[in-house]
Amino acid sequence: MIAEAAGATAELVIDLSALRANWRLLADKVAPVECAAVIKADGYGIGLEPAARALWAEGCRTFFVARLSEGVRARATLPQATIYMLDGLTPGAAATLKAHALRPALGAMEEIAEWGDAGPAALHFDTGMNRLGLAPSEVGVALAALGAKPTLVMSHFTSSEFPDATDNARQEAAFAAVEKEIRDIPASLCNSSGIFLASHPWRDMVRPGYALYGGNPTPHDTNPMRAVAHLTATMLKVRTVPRGDCVGYNRTWTARRDSRIAIVGVGYADGVPRGAMGTDDKRGPDVMIGDARCPIVGRVSMDLIAIDATDARAGDVGRGAPVEFLGARIGVDEFAAHAGTIGYEILTGLGRRYRRVYRGG
Ligand SMILES: *Cc1c(COP(=O)(O)O)cnc(C)c1O
Repeated sequence: MIAEAAGATAELVIDLSALRANWRLLADKVAPVECAAVIKADGYGIGLEPAARALWAEGCRTFFVARLSEGVRARATLPQATIYMLDGLTPGAAATLKAHALRPALGAMEEIAEWGDAGPAALHFDTGMNRLGLAPSEVGVALAALGAKPTLVMSHFTSSEFPDATDNARQEAAFAAVEKEIRDIPASLCNSSGIFLASHPWRDMVRPGYALYGGNPTPHDTNPMRAVAHLTATMLKVRTVPRGDCVGYNRTWTARRDSRIAIVGVGYADGVPRGAMGTDDKRGPDVMIGDARCPIVGRVSMDLIAIDATDARAGDVGRGAPVEFLGARIGVDEFAAHAGTIGYEILTGLGRRYRRVYRGG
């Protein structure tokens, strides 16, 4: 039983001590370079405000968000922090940014013109992603148009989780060309995986997100980070399914033996992607029942998932027994890989129907 959550079908425990330890590990690794924190998308699904407070308490002073609404929330939580907006200056937002002392990462000449002298701002250069950001060739006109010195120049890797990707060196070179045109302005290039590149392109500030929340920044290697999100669901019913019977919508999974099937109360409405289904052709992601790895079987429903608990210890299977979906043993990267997605999407999709418990911090 999930003792302190009687009646809840699933409990999401957010370990803020692990979040702090993850930030500390990265900050120590890059010191004396500044380690900022990206808390966009509701702090990668774990909650923007608790994440911001815990990171601030650990010593983080610079934060990045995407949306205006996130910037306003971050400012309300951290009156003293430096907060950058990765969306840049969205049309018409200058007065709101200024009112909340939020700094846009300006990524277009139109944004620079609209911002005028509304306050401190970063310049964001695109070195290969072809999304937001100024062209490196615009550095001269951008600096002239902004008038005041930008407080940061930044760019973003396309493929830093792949150390051998040719984009990494190409982007570093393109960014170095921008840096040659600027003097005495802090620079930032690294997301989580960028921090682990052998060339250490840390510059003056790194901007991790994913790794802080327990994602593996080195997917080719063991995960140096601690799990932050721990998701446990409760068995609502256990049934025996005879060999040859199917489970779930559209009969996509057939029992190859007489099976004990545990039904738990999480579904795609809770952020478990439909790609996490187990079919006759493809094993679904494993979850933990006691010490046993057991696969998801059949379609993921809106509210329910079936698990083949046949190989679990009998004493661990029964109404009210816990099933670990995410935690120290099932990482977000592993779960995502078997669900046909990436851990970023698992984290940012964490559902709103869970009983949420914050620990540490
Ligand atoms: C989201 C984001 C980050 C953080 O990336 P992670 O891979 O989650 O560490 C850093 N910089 C920019 C521009 C981003 O959009």
